[in-house]
Amino acid sequence: MGRRVRVRVPAKVNLQLAVGPLREDGYHGVVTVYQAVGLYDEVTVEAADGLEVVVTGDETVGVPADATNLAAKAAALLAREGGRAPDVRITLRKGIPVAGGMAGGSADAAGALVACNALWELGLDADRLAAHAAALGSDVPFSLTGGTALGVGRGERLTAVLSQGSFTWVFALAEGGLSTPSVYAECDRLRAGAPVPEPAVSDALLSALRAGSVSGVGAALDNDLQAAAVSLHPGLHAVLEAGRRSAVGGLVSGSGPTCAFLAADREAAARIVHDLEAVEGVRGVRTASAPAHGARLLDPQGA
Ligand code: ATP
Repeated sequence: MGRRVRVRVPAKVNLQLAVGPLREDGYHGVVTVYQAVGLYDEVTVEAADGLEVVVTGDETVGVPADATNLAAKAAALLAREGGRAPDVRITLRKGIPVAGGMAGGSADAAGALVACNALWELGLDADRLAAHAAALGSDVPFSLTGGTALGVGRGERLTAVLSQGSFTWVFALAEGGLSTPSVYAECDRLRAGAPVPEPAVSDALLSALRAGSVSGVGAALDNDLQAAAVSLHPGLHAVLEAGRRSAVGGLVSGSGPTCAFLAADREAAARIVHDLEAVEGVRGVRTASAPAHGARLLDPQGA
């Protein structure tokens, strides 16, 4: 059997997502504080006769098993750089909710970059991989690095954020997904006519992270896309209300519809899970620790 390379990649939550005005290039400038959370996809690559994508795991609905998959695009990009054919089978074991605002596709792209770099022994350094990642999507560079980081531009220009301690999150998975472009479009529609300031990072959030204050982080959670996600998915209103009852804070994750709740401790997390399971339209609840590492090679024994 040929060599296989496995990489584990985390999901993300945006602790803050500040969205600026629509720019002429069609993008919005954002300022965001990402945190990687312990829900993972696993990306395995091995030599094949052509580029193949196999999708397995708990979260597969709507994930394309062809060249349009972001992981396949990442492999094709690296193959071009290495001057070789992208003859690789990519197996994605999905644990990250699809189209849930948790960067699942971006995680797979980051995982494929790291995995193919190792399989083909290209020797690309972190900066080179980060440049490819930024070309693939705004959230892909963060999926590579993980931890807690500030993202500016489209979210792809990263600096590490000083953060202490660990955080316990509870995620409410919603029926159906939301497409990120449609949520941005709804955000523009809701804000039409009102002046939109340039996005800025929350000092309250940064100092709470520096101090390792879970309640401070909970109070500072903020997402400019939340109103748009709730407008397109009105059931999220009840989810937010139920989850916040026992949480130090809660918000829609990224472009949604997953909602994220920060728990003061494990007991509070159990209460949040209980409250969320009773809400109609919640198809699953996950608990995860943060911050998690970025894309990482797993050893061949599967450590
Ligand atoms: P983000 O938080 O970065 O906006 P998301 O988590 O909301 O993204 P994804 O899980 O990345 O959304 O999925 C968005 C869409 O991307 C899917 O509906 C699917 O059509 C497409 N897609 C392409 N490649 C993948 C992949 N590897 N995993 C999941 N979705 C993928």
